[in-house]
Amino acid sequence: MEFSDRQEAIIEIVKKEGPITGEQIAKRLSLSRAALRTDLAILTTTGYLGARPRVGYYYSGQTLGKMLASKMESIKVKDIYSVPVAVAEDCSIYDAIVAMFIDDVGTLFVVGEGGFLEGVVSRKDFLKIALGSKDLQNVPVSVIMTRMPNIVTIGPEESAMFAAKKLIDHEVDALPVVRTGKDNDCQKKYKIVGRLSKTSITRVFAEFGEGN
Ligand code: ADP
Repeated sequence: MEFSDRQEAIIEIVKKEGPITGEQIAKRLSLSRAALRTDLAILTTTGYLGARPRVGYYYSGQTLGKMLASKMESIKVKDIYSVPVAVAEDCSIYDAIVAMFIDDVGTLFVVGEGGFLEGVVSRKDFLKIALGSKDLQNVPVSVIMTRMPNIVTIGPEESAMFAAKKLIDHEVDALPVVRTGKDNDCQKKYKIVGRLSKTSITRVFAEFGEGN
């Protein structure tokens, strides 16, 4: 966020002299208290300055980075994920590519028996196999997918911050949002409940802007 010259001047005064009353800040800047009302409201609602009755304004020490990080920590994956798109393991590569276009996603999840997560396929996986000019109608998607246990997943209760870090650390575009379950043999398995992509994170930032 960019501050006006006047807002910067207010921050400097409060940093040096806080806690300081609105009256005193107005005096330092040779302005009326009313003229400062909007600026002080902006600085307190964005968290740069704190205000206490009968004490005055003080510098909260929150940098924009810290504020964004704490906001991203407070938002949960379940608040921002989108609908998952999944195909069965025996789905042909050709049909999976069609599903990717129809559902307008860049990552497909692959499910096995009981609807549990078994694999992930991305655009590049499809491009790679297409270069080899295999018979895409007759090769199942399971041949090219990244499979369990190598899939990076996220839980619905995790934070948006943790999801963003996982996307970056593992260099992938999307994570299946999963809940843990058990199959008939009591093996730990994942049920897919959503899709958390780089777009989900970008949307959060776009909405920060709209809220201001
Ligand atoms: P793109 O194909 O556009 O580069 P990604 O960067 O997401 O998309 O995929 C790169 C590789 O990582 C692909 O081989 C894909 O199968 C695999 N992959 C994608 N998402 C995941 C995930 N959540 N966990 C593990 N591997 C993944």
